[in-house]
Amino acid sequence: MPRRLLCAIAMTMFCVMARATTSGDDDGAYAVLSEADVVKGFDDVRFERLIRDAQAMSLSPHDRAWLDFMRGWRATWEGNYETGRPLLESVADGAADPVLRFRATATLINLLGVGHRYEQAYLRLARLQEMMPSIRDRRARFAGQAEASQLLSSAGQFDQAESYALDMMRDPPPGETLCKGAQHLLRARRENGHLDALESLYQTSIASCTRPDDAVFAQTMHADMAAFYIARGRPAEAVTLLTANLQALSALKYAILTSEFEGLLARAYLNLGDLAHARRSALAALAVGVPGEFTDARRAAFEVLYKVEQRLNHSDAALAYHEQFMAADKAYLDDISARSLAFQVVDQQLRARKTEVEALNRQNEILRLTGALANKEVETGRLYIFVLLVCLALIVWIVLWLRRSQLRFMKLARRDGLTGICNREHFVEQAGRVLAYGARSDRGACLILFDLDHFKAVNDTYGHAVGDETLKRAVDVCGRALHACDVFGRLGGEEFAVLLPDCNPAQARARAEQLRLSIAATAATPSIPHLHVTASFGVASTLQCGFELHRLLVVADAALYRAKRAGRNCVTLGDTADIPDSPYLMGEIRG
Ligand code: GH3
Ligand code: MG
Ligand code: MG
Repeated sequence: MPRRLLCAIAMTMFCVMARATTSGDDDGAYAVLSEADVVKGFDDVRFERLIRDAQAMSLSPHDRAWLDFMRGWRATWEGNYETGRPLLESVADGAADPVLRFRATATLINLLGVGHRYEQAYLRLARLQEMMPSIRDRRARFAGQAEASQLLSSAGQFDQAESYALDMMRDPPPGETLCKGAQHLLRARRENGHLDALESLYQTSIASCTRPDDAVFAQTMHADMAAFYIARGRPAEAVTLLTANLQALSALKYAILTSEFEGLLARAYLNLGDLAHARRSALAALAVGVPGEFTDARRAAFEVLYKVEQRLNHSDAALAYHEQFMAADKAYLDDISARSLAFQVVDQQLRARKTEVEALNRQNEILRLTGALANKEVETGRLYIFVLLVCLALIVWIVLWLRRSQLRFMKLARRDGLTGICNREHFVEQAGRVLAYGARSDRGACLILFDLDHFKAVNDTYGHAVGDETLKRAVDVCGRALHACDVFGRLGGEEFAVLLPDCNPAQARARAEQLRLSIAATAATPSIPHLHVTASFGVASTLQCGFELHRLLVVADAALYRAKRAGRNCVTLGDTADIPDSPYLMGEIRG
């Protein structure tokens, strides 16, 4: 796999990095680093000089990371992995600029793959894949996709490798061709055993390699095509293709790919029975190959050499090469297994981590839901309290409303509808209570009973409404003359009673006289000023009747009757002798 050169070429694709990717405040350093980024991979001498210049300058943290990335890239290009790795790691893990981190990670993947540090390479690949969607720089993303495709191919993950290669072909950065993406795609497909009908695809893809830096990719595809011909039993075509391109390839000075060409040529010549050329190509493959690299070319070279010696009956040489072939074959296969195993290990690690993260997320979700539930419970609790308070307020309001209604009804039940004073029942109740108290405290009381005179005539003359007005006016006039402790009630029609507590007959008479004069002096109604009514009064005292209301009423009624007979508009004191004969109210009081 021509990793180093591919890496080199891929990295040169960053030649026109936008000014926005830097944060350096030193324009001189920026210019030097930009130029170095442009020439790297093309002009080694200039690149070295620019890097030296940049190292001598004072750099911003961003430019320092940029310089470290290019130094790491150069070390990787030169195969100096131990120098390159810490530089690239520091940029990949510590640079503030995500594009620089991404570029350093891509180069680091290449370095780790070439250095057989597959586990670390796949871990870095996972980081690269995570970063990829957020990378807007198309050149950086293109290079990242190339590294991802190549590494995944080497791990036997051909579907993913093809997918990245197709991404490269679908959206190459400006100025790029389909060449690089096609090379990755076809390599993945060939290694996956999908060899059928690929020849024309190769030719089209190679034709698309028009940029100078596409040359190495075109040559890689030539190697792949030759491998395809050999596998299909067409070694002559492989020889023609490889020999036609060998010279152009050697100008690229890319050792691993040259070794691959020679190894393929050796196989093709062997298949053609051209043992001399087979041996020469096999030795060339070993000579240009990097010692210690577990390549297929190295394995092929030893295999061809041992078979050539075997056919020439050089059994000692054949045995020696066979041993080397076995060792190279084992190392190559071990390396393939190591790659695949490392990929599985990392894949498992990542899956385990993902599962762990998912479990933590689920745990967090449960905690969040539990919290939300607790909040809901608090809210529900508050709602219950609110509803309870509303219910309580409603109940209180209903109780108060009922109480008010009850009081209103009680008042209505006790009051006379027209005049507003005590009705007959309430008067009886109130007067009874006052009398009972008088009896207990031995304080005399008097009852005044009065009846409007000729009231029927008022009704008949002026109408019932004027009659009502007259009744209210009379009550109003009396009310003003009464004391707060007096009990005033309408017994019915135009008949009224007043119970005067703590009062003797003389005082009662005087009070009755006062009421009589007040009624007589006041106009019956404002609308008819000349209309005056009078009333007749009967007075009874507890001194004569005792503290029983009905006796007082009977006596006062008899006195009232006498007042009527005496010509009305006068006050008469009661007498117990009148009790049996009284026509007023007897029935009602007893009843
Ligand atoms: P006397 O002097 O003998 O008491 O004569 P009088 O006309 O006042 O007595 P009588 O019992 O003949 O008539 C009472 C009248 O009072 C009859 C009734 O129509 C009237 N009356 C009773 N209650 C009311 C009322 O609430 N409003 C009105 N306008 N009239 C009433
Ligand atoms: Mg009357
Ligand atoms: Mg009457």
